[in-house]
Amino acid sequence: MFEQYKLPYAYDALEPVIDALTMETHYSKHHVAYTNALNAAMEQVDLFKEDECPCIRCTLKKLDSIEDEALRNTIRNNGGGFFNHNLYFSILSPEAKTAPTGALAEKIDATFGSLDALKEALNKAGATRFGSGWAWLSVTKEGDLVVSSSPNQDNPIIEGTGNLPILGIDVWEHAYYLKYKNLRPKYLEEIWKVIDWAAVEKNYEDAVK
Ligand code: MN
Repeated sequence: MFEQYKLPYAYDALEPVIDALTMETHYSKHHVAYTNALNAAMEQVDLFKEDECPCIRCTLKKLDSIEDEALRNTIRNNGGGFFNHNLYFSILSPEAKTAPTGALAEKIDATFGSLDALKEALNKAGATRFGSGWAWLSVTKEGDLVVSSSPNQDNPIIEGTGNLPILGIDVWEHAYYLKYKNLRPKYLEEIWKVIDWAAVEKNYEDAVK
């Protein structure tokens, strides 16, 4: 059974950047639905041998081994939705550390030139993703940082890049439409106020160790 990330803050805690109704609907309806559909689908497959790790990352890496196309798509969409939202909700905080320090800060400067340049690249990735999807900051197998975007509930793991996302921004309309309407770039500009770099730093450390 995959368990949904437990929110350590209230639905209204990220106001005014993310309104309470959007948070409540996003977490208690959308994310719950992805989680339940994933768990139901996982009961119909036998993906792992006894000695294999059955975590969500390993599940997403094994999609190709699911022969039934409908079931494979169900696990791809809902497993992606489960993983992506766990990441998204865990890097948001009402007490966000608004800039990275230490090894991640140095890596960002070396790769993108500055934190602002990285934010610009991520905002562009999110704003130019046509339809629903995600913008990502990921760590490659070599320990480098890359920005990308994915459609639907895909992510760099599902795409088979070997990269691990450490920061994900949901650009589905359900993530911002109640407050920002059609203005996705405005949502992307504002969300940096609640992205907690302490959480991203921890994800980075885990990815490179
Ligand atoms: Mn979402």
